[in-house]
Amino acid sequence: MIKMAGIVLTADRALFTHYHGNDFLGFGLCMPYRLIPKILEYRLLAPKIPVDGLRAKYAPYALNKVEASLLASGFSRENVVVTPPHMIRKAIDRDTEIVGVHVLDPKGLAPVSWTLKALSGGGMTCTELEFEKLIYEVKSLKEKYKFKVIVGGPGSWQLRGYEDKYGIDVLYDGECEITFPLIVKKILDGEEVPRYVQGESAPVDKIPLITTPSRNGLVQITIGCPRRCRFCNPTMWKFRSIPLVNIMKEVEFNLKNGIKNISFVTEDVLLYGANGLQLNANAVKKLFKSTVSLAKKYGVSRKVGFSHVSCASALVMKDTVKYISEIEELSEDEPTFPQIGLESASPRIVNKYFRGKVYPWKPEDWPDILIETSKLFNDSYWYPCYTYIIGFPEATPDDYIATIELIDELKSEGFIGWTFPLLLIPMGGSMIEREKDAGFAYLSNLPEGAIDCMVAGWKLSVYNSRRLVSKLMKGGNPLISKIMLRLAFRAIDAMEEWINGIGNGVEVINDVYSKVNIRSNWGLLRTILWHR
Ligand code: SF4
Repeated sequence: MIKMAGIVLTADRALFTHYHGNDFLGFGLCMPYRLIPKILEYRLLAPKIPVDGLRAKYAPYALNKVEASLLASGFSRENVVVTPPHMIRKAIDRDTEIVGVHVLDPKGLAPVSWTLKALSGGGMTCTELEFEKLIYEVKSLKEKYKFKVIVGGPGSWQLRGYEDKYGIDVLYDGECEITFPLIVKKILDGEEVPRYVQGESAPVDKIPLITTPSRNGLVQITIGCPRRCRFCNPTMWKFRSIPLVNIMKEVEFNLKNGIKNISFVTEDVLLYGANGLQLNANAVKKLFKSTVSLAKKYGVSRKVGFSHVSCASALVMKDTVKYISEIEELSEDEPTFPQIGLESASPRIVNKYFRGKVYPWKPEDWPDILIETSKLFNDSYWYPCYTYIIGFPEATPDDYIATIELIDELKSEGFIGWTFPLLLIPMGGSMIEREKDAGFAYLSNLPEGAIDCMVAGWKLSVYNSRRLVSKLMKGGNPLISKIMLRLAFRAIDAMEEWINGIGNGVEVINDVYSKVNIRSNWGLLRTILWHR
């Protein structure tokens, strides 16, 4: 008989999955669900995570940190369970006192989701669909068992105003280590707790290590970012680097438990060990050297992944970029794909919204920095996924022309990577959220040149996708990778037609794209059979 826990931690299916070992596939769930056939979503993009009893065998890193914080504060392992959404009805019963739900994009308002919705004619994203499925299930169980619901994570800002609709008792933002266990204890003691809670920052030596392996081997190496871009939310967190010894312990814990991937969670991998913006090449080199040798000890030869890096850090630390490529044995066939915000090539916009991102250079140097860093990256087998922002308040046609010129130059220099436009969103907790003229960007109210700027980036992305897609789909299950590759080529063709359509006039979005629905398996079959 499985013993029930008093505290149940979970997340929706768009988050509580392993993406078949390829986190990149998670972006597919930012599409409106009418454009993602069920079989594609549940079998390929977001498969179920295996369980041992009620416990997930591995889980999203953030939930593992919440679990670890509770255990470090005196809760017993028997009393806390991290469980995937398909087990929620079994994990919750009359003994349940608190359900914690981790959220990333519960209303489909994150930049990628917002942009894809706008360009495809709207509709609920898979991320929102999965959140609603989970939260309504939790709400109905709450009516029966009377537990409290705490919802937290980077997407909690999207849920302000929806607390009653979804049965949320506490909306939690910020770090979990210090404040979350205190809130849980208060609830268990029957004390009143505020509806909105901001978690306090923890000193890095007080951040407990995970006790459940992390999905795809994610391990956090830095918290926050000191560059202070106005549209960014992680920059509001105090910047810290996790001690190397703790990173190695978490990496080893995952490897010992059969996880074959290692991936660093960070806003900029080259900021590891930095003192503010004074970079620390030795710390970064030691981090990679230690991780690669630990991986080898466990017979894991896969590359150490990392989500983000910044161009300014890379240009300051050219040698470190090359060092990472050498120690990871990167090559044309085994490149790495970091996500990097270039934001805009207009010095005027740089100056106003993200001056710190270009430090130690000046805003007027930014276009040249981007070209030079792109060459450095490509020579080192780093194929970046650049994103840039459309819809900055006060952006003029000239600002968009500056970015188009940059994209043209990247192409003529033979740049290998992607350039994806993202519509501006006033992300909760960011500085721009408080500016009165900054709201969500809509295609209908963009100045002249903005759509051309979006199309230019998409076209370069399509061009390079054809060159890179087979490298991107490597890893994970070979059969799944093969299927995904076939689908990816079809998707690239479709994307090209879609972009060409928008380039001829945005009316096509409402007139045609908004009516497409391939959610059913028949819809998918029809698309494949009729696609030429
Ligand atoms: S560099 Fe990136 S993470 Fe840092 S503040 Fe700017 S947008 Fe945020």
